[in-house]
Amino acid sequence: MAKRGLLIVISGPSGVGKGTVRELLMDDKKLDLVYSVSYTTREMRPGEKDGVDYHFVDDATFKKMVAEGGFLEHTNFVSHNYGTPKKEVFEALEAGHNVILEIEVNGAHQIMKKCGKENLLTIFILPPDRDTLLARLVGRDTEDPEVIKARLEKATRELAMAKDYDFQIVNDDLSKAVDTIRSIISSRLG
Ligand code: ADP
Ligand code: 5GP
Repeated sequence: MAKRGLLIVISGPSGVGKGTVRELLMDDKKLDLVYSVSYTTREMRPGEKDGVDYHFVDDATFKKMVAEGGFLEHTNFVSHNYGTPKKEVFEALEAGHNVILEIEVNGAHQIMKKCGKENLLTIFILPPDRDTLLARLVGRDTEDPEVIKARLEKATRELAMAKDYDFQIVNDDLSKAVDTIRSIISSRLG
């Protein structure tokens, strides 16, 4: 029987660089990574594509998916809902691909409870410091000041949960952070 893939969870405060790191990891075809496209009720940012960055849905559709048990995990993050589709993730894992989830801490805890350690790798990305995190969030220029404030407040609670993950990686020099995470995944894959 084909080997089941590894489920990789990446978390970290908003603006720390999760998406940037993930895209660079995905370039390494040897890792055979499939990105799980989440569902969200938040508005699309300029440049984002439906079905690529997220499945953008309304509240009613999201609620219906929750009621039907369609999510592996789901949560509310700064006034919007986010969820990982169960079917797509299981299908990719069963097919032997390694699946990468870029999700916040509540969702990650749900996954840690549900999935055994054997097929799960959890990585928390840390900022070099708080000012750098703020600068990245502001520099990305995708949220209004009050949303940036709410996301930064959330970051304090998220950072306290970094210890629950298998690895904590500081994203200071981007290529170093990506290289470190790539090595962690490669050694786990054997
Ligand atoms: P997240 O997905 O965690 O919210 P992003 O990947 O969108 O964060 O990154 C937030 C901003 O920080 C982006 O503008 C990105 O280009 C920038 N960034 C990411 N990593 C680094 C890094 N190591 N050094 C400097 N800027 C970075
Ligand atoms: P953003 O709005 O910046 O794209 O995402 C906000 C936060 O929600 C980020 O921490 C992101 O990783 C997280 N997130 C994205 N998709 C999911 C998901 O499916 N489940 C959970 N729990 N968090 C998610």
